[in-house]
Amino acid sequence: MPTLKEQFWDPVAGFGVTFRTMFKKVVTEQYPFEKLPTAPRFHGRHQLNRWPDGLEKCIGCELCAWACPADAIYVEGASNTDGPDGDGRFSPGERYGRVYQINYLRCILCGLCIEACPTRALTMTNEYELADDNRADLIYTKNELLAPLLPGMERPPHAMRLGDDEGDYYRGQFKQPAAEQPEFHLEESALRDLAQGEQLVEDGDQR
Ligand code: SF4
Ligand code: SF4
Repeated sequence: MPTLKEQFWDPVAGFGVTFRTMFKKVVTEQYPFEKLPTAPRFHGRHQLNRWPDGLEKCIGCELCAWACPADAIYVEGASNTDGPDGDGRFSPGERYGRVYQINYLRCILCGLCIEACPTRALTMTNEYELADDNRADLIYTKNELLAPLLPGMERPPHAMRLGDDEGDYYRGQFKQPAAEQPEFHLEESALRDLAQGEQLVEDGDQR
């Protein structure tokens, strides 16, 4: 024989929780209509950085790919060539990353790759909207990962533009381009990249 409590109180007791919750502040985030900024050190989409003259920091060493526990990075290095017969110079060192891909279907955004990178070529942004409806678009290529060209940068390939020697270049003791070096100029494509970069920042601000 059920007790009085079991007959009358227990069936309605659960509604007490519902009733109390009705007067609590709603914690639901209105994503994607309201996008909140992430923590400053949030690990989001990767970025391949440039030196201040526009050359790429990536030297194609593949250390990031070897460090990745998810096997999400694919790199193919190639040699920079200063002579007229080669493709030109894309990074200040001997080699550059000719092919660079990150598969965001595999990446777990752990950040081990950026720790492994010896040149700080690879860093992570706060961009977190990495979703799509097909596999191909989630394999980001070098073009998508490279940082935009900013004022004063020139699209590679070109010679090292800054400093008297490599020591100055790597120490960041940049001077204005030497007289014998070609002048800086923003190509049309660079302006387009810059506009794209600003658009990305604006989009990021809206999140
Ligand atoms: S963040 Fe982690 S999983 Fe993603 S590419 Fe880097 S090492 Fe691999
Ligand atoms: S991103 Fe860094 S670790 Fe990866 S290949 Fe380029 S230089 Fe090497």
